[in-house]
Amino acid sequence: MLNPATEEPLAELEQAGVEETDAAVAAAKAAFPAWRAVAPSDRARLLRRLATLVEERAEELARIESQNVGKPIAGARGEVGMVAEVFHFYAGAVDKHHGETIPVAGGVDITFREPLGVVGLIVPWNFPLNIASWKLGPALACGNTVVLKPAELTPLSALRLAELALEAGIPEGVVNVVVGKGSVVGQRLVEHPDVAKIGFTGSTEVGRSVMQGAAGTIKRVTLELGGKSANVVFADADLERAAAAAPYAVFDNAGQDCCARSRILVERSVYDRFLELLAQATAQVRVGDPADERTEMGPLISAQHRETVSSFLDDSTRVAFRGAAPDSDRGFWFPCTIVEATNDDRVAREEVFGPVAAVIPFADEAEAVSLANDTPFGLSGSIWTRDGARALRVARGVETGVLSVNSNSSVRVATPFGGFKQSGFGRELGMHALEGYSEVKNVFLSTEE
Ligand code: NDP
Repeated sequence: MLNPATEEPLAELEQAGVEETDAAVAAAKAAFPAWRAVAPSDRARLLRRLATLVEERAEELARIESQNVGKPIAGARGEVGMVAEVFHFYAGAVDKHHGETIPVAGGVDITFREPLGVVGLIVPWNFPLNIASWKLGPALACGNTVVLKPAELTPLSALRLAELALEAGIPEGVVNVVVGKGSVVGQRLVEHPDVAKIGFTGSTEVGRSVMQGAAGTIKRVTLELGGKSANVVFADADLERAAAAAPYAVFDNAGQDCCARSRILVERSVYDRFLELLAQATAQVRVGDPADERTEMGPLISAQHRETVSSFLDDSTRVAFRGAAPDSDRGFWFPCTIVEATNDDRVAREEVFGPVAAVIPFADEAEAVSLANDTPFGLSGSIWTRDGARALRVARGVETGVLSVNSNSSVRVATPFGGFKQSGFGRELGMHALEGYSEVKNVFLSTEE
């Protein structure tokens, strides 16, 4: 694997195949009975210790992530901070995810939340450690054992995390990491009869094949897939604030973010003014060396991905603004780019997964909602207005899983995250994630003599 900012090799790892995947599943299966039997308070203590170790090694983990993904170091530090918070949260959740007693005739009815067994976790390259933790935290808290497959391009932080899990005292075999191709290791996990569930984050295309593959064994799946989220700016909004925030909602992580608000819908009466403010704000985004503390945007992940991103721009594209990027023959740089578009243009329909924002005008509230929903995706989005009732009306009308009003933040440790429509199903984070890593068992106990 390479450092995307310098194209220098970082490490060479042997690729695992089906045999190694099967061995990891077998190790996870063997570790399951003892792990599920660990007392809740002890499981919580082990997860808490892992969280503390992540905090203690935060700088090392942030550097690994920054070098492997090309992320600005300041952002990588924030992400590692969230990873620790995720493990703290699920340490606290272990004994708060309980069953019920249900009033029935003739006895007592009790529900239990049972672990699923071995779960396969497949994660992408854009937020490798964060997304791994969003799955590992609830999976382990519920008493499952896991086989984690990081993306081929970015496995380094997951390997380090598995070492920290052992150091924290989590028994061998509970957390297994297998580095290899999605089409080999990923697919084997999807089809393996001893894997009870796949927690997948990645593209909608691969998500579809995961769902198909899981059908063979009626495996549970949760899918966190692509997005094409709308940032809806009404004329009555604080335009300066909305414009100052908008670049970071789409150019963060060089646009390689499923939550990117890459369709900026602007009420026509303030369209020109907003576009001007947006260009000014985008010009302030500091693009460059990810190791520099002040850098806000680094390179794209690979040369091949840069080609894909470039393919969204051609001679007919109406480019409203193009920012600066390092003029170096090393590194997969791409400038922040703002284009004027209609919602039918390819740039507005497909996920670019790069620093390209499409700005689209709308006439009124009804058209704003209809444009926001005119997409196969439904992950995230924002609404900027000073009218509270309108904010709620639009929030209820937009078909996405995660919305913010007068803000662009999507992700919080304690709140559910996930998509509508082809952005997937199931929820990560918060207490909701525990539903995806446990099964409800219903037991009736007769009290009749
Ligand atoms: P991919 O779908 O290409 O890959 C995701 C993971 O799936 C990788 O680990 C990959 O392995 C693996 N994989 C590939 N083929 C298969 C297969 N046939 N069976 C099982 N696993 C397979 O996505 P990217 O890595 O390109 O990530 C970008 C995508 O992820 C974007 O579309 C983005 O929107 C989405 N995403 C969604 C998020 C969400 O929470 N909704 C968050 C972040 C990203 P390998 O790479 O090693 O081949």
